[in-house]
Amino acid sequence: MPAPNIETIVSLSKRRGFVFPASDIYGGLGSSWDYGQLGVELANNIKKSWWNWLVYERDDIEGLDSSIIQNRLVWQYSGHEDTFSDPLVDCRDCNARLRQDKLDTDADHKHICSNCGKKNLTEPRDFNLMFRTTVGAASADDDPMALAYLRPETAQGIFINFKNVLDTSRRKLPFGLAQIGKAFRNEVTPGNFIFRTREFEQMEMEYFCRAGDAPALHQEWIDGFQTWLGRLGILPENLCLYEQQPHELAHYAERTVDIMYRFFPEREDEEKQWDELMGIANRKDFDLKAHSKKPEDADGKRINPDATDDLSYFDPQTNERFYPYVIEPAIGVNRTLLAVMMDAYTEKTNDKGETRVILKLKPELAPIKVAVLPLAKNKPEIVDMSRNLKRHLQPLMRAVYDDTGGIGKLYARQDEIGTPFCVTVDHESLEDNAVTVRDRDTWEQERVGIESLKEYLQKRLS
Ligand code: ATP
Repeated sequence: MPAPNIETIVSLSKRRGFVFPASDIYGGLGSSWDYGQLGVELANNIKKSWWNWLVYERDDIEGLDSSIIQNRLVWQYSGHEDTFSDPLVDCRDCNARLRQDKLDTDADHKHICSNCGKKNLTEPRDFNLMFRTTVGAASADDDPMALAYLRPETAQGIFINFKNVLDTSRRKLPFGLAQIGKAFRNEVTPGNFIFRTREFEQMEMEYFCRAGDAPALHQEWIDGFQTWLGRLGILPENLCLYEQQPHELAHYAERTVDIMYRFFPEREDEEKQWDELMGIANRKDFDLKAHSKKPEDADGKRINPDATDDLSYFDPQTNERFYPYVIEPAIGVNRTLLAVMMDAYTEKTNDKGETRVILKLKPELAPIKVAVLPLAKNKPEIVDMSRNLKRHLQPLMRAVYDDTGGIGKLYARQDEIGTPFCVTVDHESLEDNAVTVRDRDTWEQERVGIESLKEYLQKRLS
């Protein structure tokens, strides 16, 4: 049984240390969130899973880490300066500021204010989502020469490094470049916890290929990502595909499919339960061309007079030079974390009739793999043995020692944060050199000799 709504995850996150409202002691900051001691581990494990799957398990993808602040021209030629905007409307009745493309319409196609339900909205105007800043100590705030942006996506950093990697890695098509990093968008209506924020983290991969191979590879990535999301524990019944309609497609995109997650299971209208978890686009050869010095328009003028290099690819098989097509699967770390937590959330009733929360995270993602708990914290031998066990396990798996409560409380706390195993050291352990291993999901306990504990846990965690 997944979480009934996002609110359940908000309160679990705050209670246990996954996610806190940012700047809370100063009243918060709109939609910013800080990741606490468990949230940072969960996010890191999601990123590791993505990176392992793409960069390490395959043989055709390299990693990259590009700058957040680039030359402004990157965003001019990518099209972001002109077109990376949302249609902003104001409600004349309640003063709400809204994104027109996210509003419901009535039978006459009139937009309805999502705040007050009236239809008295201003005409839409384009609002560019890029955060502006100035570069250089002496620059004035309005100096156009110093203007720069915080990147609104990681993808452009990959395109402008295409040739660097190609030249140094001797890659042949098809191959991909993968990057994880922060992105910033001055969203008109942030909200729904970490679903839409102004600062977030993306995992983007650009898979470069020949034009003719692009449609089939696109489909392979759509299928592949559903499999990977399943590996993270996201339930197939909470995922669906959305094929973007021709009028919704970005001008450069041939086909885009969004993978949607059921972020809002509490909504009565099934259609409204879904929202985007990730997008997978066939961007054709738009990006590499846009940043290249050679392409010309119909009048023979260079479309990019500022570029100093050409991002084309020479195919030794056919002796042809061309701009590869690119398939882009782009997913947010934060939305993935939210979906993972929602589907891992379970409630279970114990034999006293009390409801307990269990976060059934996949062991690969669990912030803590094993908690070592002493049954009696006033007995030095038991405490020593427990602390030593923690150190013994730590090089192989994230282990913690905890003696801050009675055993029942400690078990409940570890269940709630998704720790797959608790290891309890008791009086008998001192005699038989064995410990009790408790399983998070079944609450079953098994006696395991300390000699074989490492192997036992490793086997059950994998
Ligand atoms: P939306 O339509 O929800 O605004 P988008 O289609 O603009 O999203 P993309 O540009 O395709 O988003 O970005 C890729 C992924 O990055 C999204 O699928 C999402 O997981 C994540 N993402 C985008 N914007 C945000 C945001 N403001 N907060 C959190 N995650 C985001």
